[in-house]
Amino acid sequence: MFKGLFKRFSHDVGIDLGTSNTLIYVKERGIVVNEPSIVALNERTGQILAVGHEAKRMLGKVPPHITISKPLVDGIISDFEVTEKMLKYFIDKGKGENLNFSARPRVVIGVPLDVTEVEKKAVEDVVLSAGAREVFLVEGVVATAIGARLPIQDPSGNLVVSIGGALTQVAVISLSGVVSWRSIRIAGSKLDQDIIEFARSEFNLLIGETVAEDTKKRAGLAAEKDLAVPLKLQGRDLLTGLPKEVSVSSEQIIRCLQRSINSIVEAIKSTIEITPPELVADIYRRGMILSGGGALLAGIDQVISQATKISVKVIEDPLTCAVRGLGLILEDEQLLQEVAIPSTQEDRQALR
Ligand code: ADP
Ligand code: MG
Repeated sequence: MFKGLFKRFSHDVGIDLGTSNTLIYVKERGIVVNEPSIVALNERTGQILAVGHEAKRMLGKVPPHITISKPLVDGIISDFEVTEKMLKYFIDKGKGENLNFSARPRVVIGVPLDVTEVEKKAVEDVVLSAGAREVFLVEGVVATAIGARLPIQDPSGNLVVSIGGALTQVAVISLSGVVSWRSIRIAGSKLDQDIIEFARSEFNLLIGETVAEDTKKRAGLAAEKDLAVPLKLQGRDLLTGLPKEVSVSSEQIIRCLQRSINSIVEAIKSTIEITPPELVADIYRRGMILSGGGALLAGIDQVISQATKISVKVIEDPLTCAVRGLGLILEDEQLLQEVAIPSTQEDRQALR
């Protein structure tokens, strides 16, 4: 009987189902999946061609009968079937060889702050139909705070800013709950779009998402860091229809990202404005934590701390912070009960 119990808990999993990236943590094993939330489908055969990294490499390079699908939009499931297929694929991949998965896992999964009941139900359903026995929802920013080892169970203000693919989420957490928050649809992908728009309006140059994302990552927001190799944008000239390359300075890129960065700063400021003063005092003393892939944008910490007068710490390995937090939740039943948000089903367990 004991053996059965151990087996039961030994493969609980945490899932960070992000708009850009999906990560899976298996208890006692760590992160087993870390891949883009992208699926390539063959419309002729109806079959999945590729998932994750492999599908991302195909972005913008496919013939008409292949569709590249991003089944999550703005942090929520927009295509249930494709999300389910993608999760099944990842869970399968993450299983490893010497693990017996005949007993279905319990799953803790992160959700955005402004998730609706319908969206919550979609997440629960997709996880259960992907093979989970039981599902618990946790706010992604709370998982991030736990991954950052913030003392969220204390009566004290912890400010977390997560800049993901689609959403920037700002939350003040105290006593294991979110006290005040803001969520805006301006994050990593919007910055890529800003660069695409800049290339179009400035140079009549049409560039793809991958070129835009690479340029963003290389430029960052720190103008003083002079790039050894100049930034080059390659794409199609909208006037001649032919390939074209232009050189741009990092200053130009920074300028074109300015508006979106300002919106992110405003979201942080307005969260502080609606936060009770005692908690603001804690935040002033402790500073804020920056996480999500957007935290890797060089110089963003300085920009935010200058604008808010609060010190900013970029969490180490910001792309995995949320899923590591989910992993810590799996290790601590008490914490799980404290942070799990109400389920939409009377019973979190799958009907057998
Ligand atoms: P999500 O949780 O929404 O899936 P992530 O936290 O995984 O999002 O972050 C993905 C975003 O982070 C993408 O927009 C990606 O371009 C951005 N990103 C990743 N690395 C960097 C980097 N070095 N500089 C700037 N942005 C980055
Ligand atoms: Mg994420």
